[in-house]
Amino acid sequence: MVITIPIPDLKKPPTLKFPERCVNCGGSKDEALGITLNMGVQKRDQAVTMQLTVPMCSACATKERSVAKVTLVPFLVAGLVVGLIVFVPATLLSPEGTTPQTLGFPFVFGGFVGMVAGVIAGSVVEFFTKILAAPFYGRLLSRRPLTIVGFLVESDELIGLSARFLRKEKAVRLEFENEEIAHEFTQLNSLEN
Ligand SMILES: [Zn+2]
Repeated sequence: MVITIPIPDLKKPPTLKFPERCVNCGGSKDEALGITLNMGVQKRDQAVTMQLTVPMCSACATKERSVAKVTLVPFLVAGLVVGLIVFVPATLLSPEGTTPQTLGFPFVFGGFVGMVAGVIAGSVVEFFTKILAAPFYGRLLSRRPLTIVGFLVESDELIGLSARFLRKEKAVRLEFENEEIAHEFTQLNSLEN
């Protein structure tokens, strides 16, 4: 279920309340995980953020912390292996440098081609690993940006919950995996669907 919360004043984002149980499975609240959304405005020289405190059971929190296993790890492993495999032939096939300044060129060339191949291969492997892992980590896993894109955008995903700040619309969009929790959330915060 997708819920959009308007934020009329970006300098005063509302405090959202979550039901006192796990956002993903509805189980007991064992810990709270945080999501920070940057509102893109400043107040007294400080960036204004919206803090979401999201309750989770220990099983789901552990799962959330292990999500790198199906995102970052496959990206790095596949990227490194393919990068090295490509590096060797690319270095050997590279035109030789003829002056002392360009003697190292084959290594630069091989390194660059290897890195590009590694990033592409790593992203492809990560993409498919996520699809395979979705039954275990939840459907929202596929919404997470790929590692290579993730360096550019803020992470705002947890197991069972995806949060996005929509700058133009001046709103926050929350997507819940668990319909029941989403329903309780709208009631708690007096929102309309
Ligand atoms: Zn849970």
